[in-house]
Amino acid sequence: MLTVGHRNNRAGRGDLDDGEFELLSGAFGRNGGTREQRGLAQPVVQKYQDLGSGRWFYCDCRGSDGLSPVLYPSARSHLVRHADRPSHDENCTFFCPPREEWRITNSHRMRERPGGYGLIQNFAGGAVTAPDREPVRSSQNSRRPGLATLLFTLLTESDVMTIGTNGRRSRYESQLADIYRASRLMRLDADIRLSDFLCTGFERQDMLEGRIARGWGRWRNSTRPHGLIIDTIHGVVPGGLVKKDGQVLRIAGRISVFGEQDGDNRAARRPEDAIRPDRSYVAIVLFARPAPDAPVTAYSAYVHPCWTMEDLLLVDSNLERSTLFQLSRTRSWVHRYDNVSFTIEKPLFDIGNAQAGDGDLDEGGDEADPVAVAAPPVLLPDFIVHRHGHAEAGSTTVIVETMGYADTAYRERKARTVPAMSRALGGVPYVKHDFHYPSAKTQDERDLTFRGSLRSALVGRW
Ligand SMILES: [Zn+2]
Repeated sequence: MLTVGHRNNRAGRGDLDDGEFELLSGAFGRNGGTREQRGLAQPVVQKYQDLGSGRWFYCDCRGSDGLSPVLYPSARSHLVRHADRPSHDENCTFFCPPREEWRITNSHRMRERPGGYGLIQNFAGGAVTAPDREPVRSSQNSRRPGLATLLFTLLTESDVMTIGTNGRRSRYESQLADIYRASRLMRLDADIRLSDFLCTGFERQDMLEGRIARGWGRWRNSTRPHGLIIDTIHGVVPGGLVKKDGQVLRIAGRISVFGEQDGDNRAARRPEDAIRPDRSYVAIVLFARPAPDAPVTAYSAYVHPCWTMEDLLLVDSNLERSTLFQLSRTRSWVHRYDNVSFTIEKPLFDIGNAQAGDGDLDEGGDEADPVAVAAPPVLLPDFIVHRHGHAEAGSTTVIVETMGYADTAYRERKARTVPAMSRALGGVPYVKHDFHYPSAKTQDERDLTFRGSLRSALVGRW
């Protein structure tokens, strides 16, 4: 929520009038920002700007400690995010302008990429060097990197992201073989098959680097020769990845790490600190020459937590691991008592069906301009369960959502997106695995409620 007041008078801040918050968040918040919504909010902006300069809107999304994010009125028509104040929480409606929200949503959609993934441009400026730079955090609320899109496409196409009805997982080697097979149908550049420049395992790094260095293949002028390695790793240190053998692979440019807000996935200070039995990650690393005359090197990387060092199933957090464990208990239960089973799918692409066309976004616009159409939210269920076998009642498809955090902004966002996920799949039921509420209950009791709710959604019996 927002409060409003003069920047020099902390005590004098007051709440907005009824409805004003809705108008402002519709016009300047996530999934809003159309010309019509801007028009409705304009009198509110004007009213506060006319009260005199220095009137700010304070957002409580970061709690009451420390500085609040601030928006201030401008030109009696719009709100500007104050650049010198903290940014909004990523679950807050004001986290980014509506225009950026379009780019975020588009980046989470599955699209045909006949011309490649735009992972790297041809040589333009200087070489990338960012020695020991801290990794950049990536999340569902930020623009998805091209490396992540490529990895997610491979994992989805190779069925690694689905757990079958018996719960058994394929061996690591056969997961890699499936990924390699999927890569034969994908392209890094118009005339370059991904499979010719993809290795599964860092032990083939010399071979890949040699192939890129020799300029093998017909690359177009818009890109430079590049290749990729996918492998599991222990974790991340500033400027590098800790490989299975404990050695650090230096990365010349950016390392993006997927992580939820609990900071589970922070870089370790020393390689030995990254090696922990409860942590495992998949890394996809881009190899290219950083400059025309430089040797081929590990250029950039995307890192995502995975089930184990021998299983590439992606999980977004340790809480999701716990949800998967509860799902497997429920599967045994419904198998024994209801004679049905289910598969578990971890979707990696937006399931939304609202069309997000590039034409809805005028690239030249800035924060002051309204958008033509409000961006739809990113709809990415944690898990989708598909029932196999007959039941008298219940749904064959159920959405499962891990409720990992207690804060209001997170809960408000889930309260909007989870029902929208259900609608996108034709109104299927959803079940929440909650780690905080009801607060009077123990986690064992909440887990039991989750298993009962899921069974009820699947077969109509508690
Ligand atoms: Zn906020």
